[in-house]
Order: sequence, then C-alpha cells, then structure tokens
Amino acid sequence: MTIKTRFAPSPTGHLHVGNIRTALHNWMFAKKEGGTFLLRLDDTDAERSREEYVEAIRTDLAWLGLTPDEEQRQSARFDRYEEHLAKLKADGRVYPAYETAQELDLKRKIQLGRGKPPIYDRAALDLTPEQISAFEAEGRKPHWRFKLDHGTPITWSDRIRGDQHFDPALLSDPVILREDGSWLYMLPSAIDDIDMGITHVVRGEDHVANTAVQIQMFIALGAVPPEFAHEALLVGTEGKLSKRLGSLGVNSFRERNIEPQAIVALLARIGTSDPVEPIVDAEPLIASFDFARFGRAPARFDDEELAQLNQKIVHLLDYEDVQNRLPEAMDAAAWEVIRPNLHDMADVDQWWQVVTGPISAPEIPTEDRDFLSIAHDKLGELEASDDLWKELTGALKEATGRKGKPLFMPLRQALTGLDHGPDMNALLPLIGREVALARLAKASV
Ligand code: GLU
Repeated sequence: MTIKTRFAPSPTGHLHVGNIRTALHNWMFAKKEGGTFLLRLDDTDAERSREEYVEAIRTDLAWLGLTPDEEQRQSARFDRYEEHLAKLKADGRVYPAYETAQELDLKRKIQLGRGKPPIYDRAALDLTPEQISAFEAEGRKPHWRFKLDHGTPITWSDRIRGDQHFDPALLSDPVILREDGSWLYMLPSAIDDIDMGITHVVRGEDHVANTAVQIQMFIALGAVPPEFAHEALLVGTEGKLSKRLGSLGVNSFRERNIEPQAIVALLARIGTSDPVEPIVDAEPLIASFDFARFGRAPARFDDEELAQLNQKIVHLLDYEDVQNRLPEAMDAAAWEVIRPNLHDMADVDQWWQVVTGPISAPEIPTEDRDFLSIAHDKLGELEASDDLWKELTGALKEATGRKGKPLFMPLRQALTGLDHGPDMNALLPLIGREVALARLAKASV
C-alpha cells in the first residue's frame, strides 16, 4: 500500500504553529513511508476563504521545507459532492431539515436545562408532506443532515489514542449542506479522502468526534475508512490553549529570526517521547518518526526552548545553507569564524561590521595605551599570515612581560571595540594587517 497523507487547512487565515505541526507530521509520515503528501485547501466557505491566504499557506510550507507532492482545492469539486449527495439521498442516508438557527438553539437550551446532552432530536424525520409543503410555501429552504446509523457502534484503532468507541446515538446527525447550498466541512472532507486515496488522516484531537461521524460517512459512501491518528493539542507554557499560539505563525518566526529547521526540529519532537535535539537535516527526524512515540498529554510549546534550539541550529548551519543571506564579501572562512558567536542570523551583520569596520570606539584604560602602541609597532614588523595573532601576542609577551587577560583583553578591545567575541586567532586574519594597524594606532593615543 502506498501511504498518502493530507494537510487540509482552510484558507481563512495564516497557518499557526498548531497547524504547522499537523502539516509537519503528515509530511514526515508520508516521507518516512515513501508516500505522498497532499495539500488540500478546504475552501468551501467562499466568503471567508481568500486567495492571499492560499498563497501564504503555499509560501509558508515551502519556507519550512514541507513541499506538497500534490495540491487539491475543494472549491473545484462541488460537482463531485453533489453526485455523492444524490447517492446518499437515494440511499436514505441524508434528510432535509427546516429548523431555523434560533429554533435549534432553543432546542439545545431546553435539553441542557433538563440536564440532557444537546443532541439533535431528528424531528425533521417526522415531518409530514403537508408540514414540508407549508415550510416551502413560507419560503423556508432545508439544510441537509447526514443520518447516522444508530445500530452500528463506531470503533477504530487510533494510531496515537488507541482503541476508540463512540455510540452514534449520542452524536447529532451532522448538517452537511446549508440552506443556501454551501457545504460544511464534514462530508466533502470524507469524499475527498476517498477520491484522493488518503490512507492516513493525521490531525488534532479536536477532530476525534468528527472522525466518528466521518467513519460512518466513509462506510455509507461504500469506502473503507482510512487510518486515523489524532495528536494531543499544542499548548503554550502558560498551560492553556492560548490565544497567542493561534496567532503565532511563520511571519512571527521570521521576525524573531528563527530558522525553519529550528521550527521543524522542535515541532517534530515536542509531545513525543523523543528528546528535542538540534537536528538541521530533516532525514534523521523523519527516520525517528513514529506514532507510537506520541503522548496523550498536550505538547508544550515554549518560545524560550525554540530560541535556544534555534541558536544551536545556527551553529550547525553550513556556509551553503546561509550563503545567500550573508554580506556579499563574507566567505566560508569568515562564516566559520563568526558562526559560534551568533544567537541568531540577525547577529551576522554586527560581527561582520567588527571585521570590516568601522568599529565602535573602544574604551582603553590609560595604562594600556603604551602597551597598544608597542603592539602597533610589533604588528608593523610582522608579515600578514594566518598565524598573525600568535606571532603578535608572542612578540608582545616577550617585549612587555604581560600574559593572560592583561595581554589579550586590550588587544581585543582595540581591534574589535568589544571585550568578547570570536576567537582572535581566526578573526585577526579576517580583519587584516592593515586595518588592524590602524585600529591599534587609534587606540594607543
Ligand atoms: N479544514 C479542516 C481544519 O482545518 C481539516 C480537518 C481535517 O484534517 O480533516 O480543521
């Protein structure tokens, strides 16, 4: 069997960290199994779906490296949904209902007031032809419900949650088509999963009750239901399902200079029994992907953990990974020198400026000025080389008797304007002999 997964966002907004995680897991599972990863745009809601969000979803997935093998849109498939609806009508598995939203709301309130679950009472099934004619004469249009089979208990073995059981009598027959002819999510999704050959539906556990209903839809449509894996939801460090996570998307990660590899490495592992590790290449993450390792407790998303992971990831990035984001003159050797000092990629410019100048004016204590003047003269006697720092400090040690911090710190300050930073041994050749001479001269007066 060829595995096929799908990520099915509604293009009514930007992807947030929760659905990025779902997309990632669908992608990883498909890749691990040598299968196909489908992007399905759930754009049946013409009013709320926007082309700009479709574009944004594609761009975000590409930035994260989760490129779909195939793309489909529900708005192109209404004919197909109508065909299936006709069949379900013929089979008596859907029925028209005429209640207004207010009437349904009132029913629910009464049920709740009596301490009963707010399950649709199927009153529409008892309507007489006269009552229906009367509604139609009033200008009411029906919405359509899928009729659950109360005689068949719903069960499935969830790849994450284990055995699941639902009594269909405790579920409302879902509305599938609105009065105005627009489709709700439930049936088109099942039809697409069948038509597109989806083998595994991987999504958040907020969809568990939908799965129960959709399993009966698959069967009513003559198909074998796919496998399901419902992952525990993502929560912020504050513990609850936070609003903040709902607005946290690729744009905000970019603003914070988070690398896509850091997001992938974090979201691949939180909520699983595998540790979060700085892994740049997706391959080992894919290789370790296993539903059996997913826990039932909510996965915790921690901004601070992401920032720290991001720093470790940056320290592992190769020159080729970042080349087009570096200052033009910065070569592979310079990247190697600067890389260990970066918190994130935005720090590159600051360190490159230390190399190319101008540097911020160093504050040199008076007692170090003569020392720096000697340093200037000693450097003048040396040829440019990769060992310039060793040669310079060696000569200075001999000439002044200084060693350790009193030897190194004034030099670092004079040459970089800072009292910390890259290894001077590697940095000095990048700064260059001429520039270093000028900086020493300036600092010694
Ligand atoms: N459009 C649905 C959502 O975003 C898809 C759910 C599913 O994976 O079936 O919730």
